[in-house]
Amino acid sequence: MNFRPLLIAKEEPLDKGYMTYLVGHGTEITLGVYIWLIEGTEKNVLIDTGASGEFIRSTGFPGIDVQTQEEALKKVGLTPEDIDYVIITHLHGDHAADAKKYKNATFVVQKDELEYAKNPHPMHTGWFAVPPKEMKLEVVDGDKEIVPGVKVIKTPGHTPGGQSVLIDTDKGKVCLSGMCTILENFYPPEPMKEMGIRAIAPALHTDALQAFDNVIKILEMADIVIAPHDISYMDVETIP
Ligand SMILES: [Zn+2]
Repeated sequence: MNFRPLLIAKEEPLDKGYMTYLVGHGTEITLGVYIWLIEGTEKNVLIDTGASGEFIRSTGFPGIDVQTQEEALKKVGLTPEDIDYVIITHLHGDHAADAKKYKNATFVVQKDELEYAKNPHPMHTGWFAVPPKEMKLEVVDGDKEIVPGVKVIKTPGHTPGGQSVLIDTDKGKVCLSGMCTILENFYPPEPMKEMGIRAIAPALHTDALQAFDNVIKILEMADIVIAPHDISYMDVETIP
């Protein structure tokens, strides 16, 4: 079993401070917006629906199209209609805006996330994409195995009902973080580590302490951590 990253769009230039809380402001970075296919399962399981560059630009961020979801899936012999499950890590637009493309999929979403997305705090107006009514939902409350070997782990803090995805592989446990992060959130620069700082909270959060604790939880749970916006996966075929 493995994760295959499929890059849909990029955001550049973006200030690193959007990812790492109170760290890295003034440094320009490029973010990746991916969908993730899990390979080696009987069912076709996708993580997140991604969003187009156009959608990202409509939210005020510098979105650049790389390919459509259809183009990305075609390269691995699939169409959006072939997807059986879409695990939605959280309902921010960059992860959930294109739900409609996956007509035959069951959408796996946490109960707390769905409730919050329907009625977010005014500060988060426009941030959330509630799945359209016609979508088939599997609403989960906590951790759950979705198909054999693929588990969702509730990791709130970035959003109230965020979830990460944990799979067992022959190289150990791999966890795709459900929080908008780059690898630096999990692996702080050396000077910070020397100060005993083990992680950096996601800059965007509804509860910074909870988000920080869940970064640590993921680090302790997984042998390999995937940070969903790190651009380093853009040319990576599979993890592991
Ligand atoms: Zn994100």
